[in-house]
Amino acid sequence: MARLRDMRRAVVTGGAGFIGSHLCERLLEDGLRVLAVDNLLSGDRRNLTALEGRPGFRFLERDICAPGALEDLPGGPYGLVMHLACPASPADYLRLPLETLEAGSSGTRNALELARRDGSRLLLASTSEVYGDPQEHPQRETYWGHVNPVGPRSVYDEAKRFAEALVTAHRGARGTDAAIVRIFNTYGPRMRPGDGRAVPTFVRQALAGEPLTVAGDGSQTRSLCYVDDTVEGLVALAASELDGPVNIGGDEEISIAELARRIIALTGSRSHISHIGLPDDDPVRRRPDTTLAREGLGWAPRTSWEHGLKRTVSWFAELPVPQPPAPSPAGR
Ligand code: UDP
Repeated sequence: MARLRDMRRAVVTGGAGFIGSHLCERLLEDGLRVLAVDNLLSGDRRNLTALEGRPGFRFLERDICAPGALEDLPGGPYGLVMHLACPASPADYLRLPLETLEAGSSGTRNALELARRDGSRLLLASTSEVYGDPQEHPQRETYWGHVNPVGPRSVYDEAKRFAEALVTAHRGARGTDAAIVRIFNTYGPRMRPGDGRAVPTFVRQALAGEPLTVAGDGSQTRSLCYVDDTVEGLVALAASELDGPVNIGGDEEISIAELARRIIALTGSRSHISHIGLPDDDPVRRRPDTTLAREGLGWAPRTSWEHGLKRTVSWFAELPVPQPPAPSPAGR
């Protein structure tokens, strides 16, 4: 990782998010100075509690999408721009459709302009969602995808597809050193319990003894990757000469019903499974072909699902239980 250390200073957009905060931690451990930029729309400053006050770390609350938003960052020039800022859970991007499209377009443009100004390397966090509801299985980077451009998920899928196009065009037209990683379903500590995704929802429900809400018949599949492994893949790509796109994701494909059963067993919960409606355009199958990451980066996921889920469950179990607001004093 000598190339990484030589980059010296990194900006992480979306640094207060789930993956972003783990990435900030990892880059600091590698000896870089890190500036996390986040507007806290779906990120949470508490994700950075352990980092604030550590030498070399700074946090800036800012929306990266406004014109010139990254022109006056403190502490530059930056050798590395890790562009993660974007709502990423379906519940978040359905709630924030225009902000999601902005993050992929204006946010990516600003991140690319910063990278070009500083002569730095940029890594775009793209997504397995660019494959949509895939007709090719497992998904290789050469697959063009099967996306409904006017469906509810399009705000995320097309934002990331546009961001990929922007990165590719910048590389060609301006010579920007920019790479694309396509991140598949990632889980671990610091997912928001209410972010709507399957792992945090099921863990929260199992710990509370509530029914686990499996969408449809639960036969749809995902391939989960523990956050430390995902971050390792991002760092390996940043330190490499590859442009990508490179898939980073888990190897083991499981059904959502099986995921729910595993979480019930692991938590020792007495919860049952209840079925809810399947969201529109919910992908039926998803599994990355990770040959490129393995051969080009020497990367492979290493964390077993038992270990990863145990760590995730322990983290959720320690979260403070939300208290109801105190009643307002009488007469006011
Ligand atoms: N899912 C579910 N119950 C929930 C939340 C999600 O069955 O409470 C399903 C969802 O419909 C999808 C899968 O779990 O089939 C993974 O959803 P998630 O939101 O975690 O990620 P996605 O891969 O869809 O972005």
